[in-house]
Amino acid sequence: MRKTSVLSAVKKNPDSSDVCINCHAQITPIAIDSFDVLFSEHNLSRILNANFSYDEYVDILDNIFKKLDYANISGESPKEKVFQIANVFTYVVPKSSGIQRGEYGSQLILFDDRLDESLQTSTIIHELAHFLLFDITVNILSKILEVNPSPVIKSFVEHFLILPDIEVINEFYAHSVENRFIPLKYQNFNSFIKCVTDLNMGSEEIDVYIRIANSFAYEVIHYLQKYIDDDLREAIRLQFKIDMIEAKKLETDFGNMVCDPQKKNIIFLNLIGSHFEYLLNNEEAREELGYLKNRFEDFD
Ligand SMILES: [Zn+2]
Repeated sequence: MRKTSVLSAVKKNPDSSDVCINCHAQITPIAIDSFDVLFSEHNLSRILNANFSYDEYVDILDNIFKKLDYANISGESPKEKVFQIANVFTYVVPKSSGIQRGEYGSQLILFDDRLDESLQTSTIIHELAHFLLFDITVNILSKILEVNPSPVIKSFVEHFLILPDIEVINEFYAHSVENRFIPLKYQNFNSFIKCVTDLNMGSEEIDVYIRIANSFAYEVIHYLQKYIDDDLREAIRLQFKIDMIEAKKLETDFGNMVCDPQKKNIIFLNLIGSHFEYLLNNEEAREELGYLKNRFEDFD
């Protein structure tokens, strides 16, 4: 006679449960799929008191970049190669309208295909840098909250990274990554300068943000230059020459402004924590997240 297992009477918890459906105890969901579950005092305290080691951080970076080890980058031109590299991480799509050279939002990189090849290349690198900071932040937060990345986590991270203050970090960082791979005389910090001017930001605050941005940039460059290597950089340099792009040499050098990588992560986590706390206490402000969440769900 077949015995009915005791276990068969125990119901499986859905991935998003934060309370066990059998014994009603608090459990950590596998993935957070609602803002009410994300925005709790418990999660805020996890972020603010996170014991997040640099080794754990390096594991996240290793995991993100190892995708490139299995990729076949066969493009003929530097633009095609950089396009293929960026496509390993996320969706890269040409656009042919608007005045922005490139745009990044909700996992989608857009670049204007009417630009010279050299500028398409630098634009894709810049927008890829934005995606990578997004992906790194999603992974940090998921690790700290012990859940898998989900559209809910992603929409919170995107909302955080486009805050006017954080955009200063994000733009300086993306320009620094882009500048590493293009000839010196074509380097610029245009979007960063626009953000700082719009915000009328004080120089002390800017200093801290530049240090955070540069530290992130150096880490990402360290990984990317294995693939955007000497040969590809030389091909990019030649492409700029062929395209006869007008050059305006930078007047300022911010390259030596960095901060200790672990200190950078602690400051960054505190910035994430403050935005989390703001949204926890402001249900109205959370409405914007719903729109972002829908866009991420389209890609899931
Ligand atoms: Zn940018």
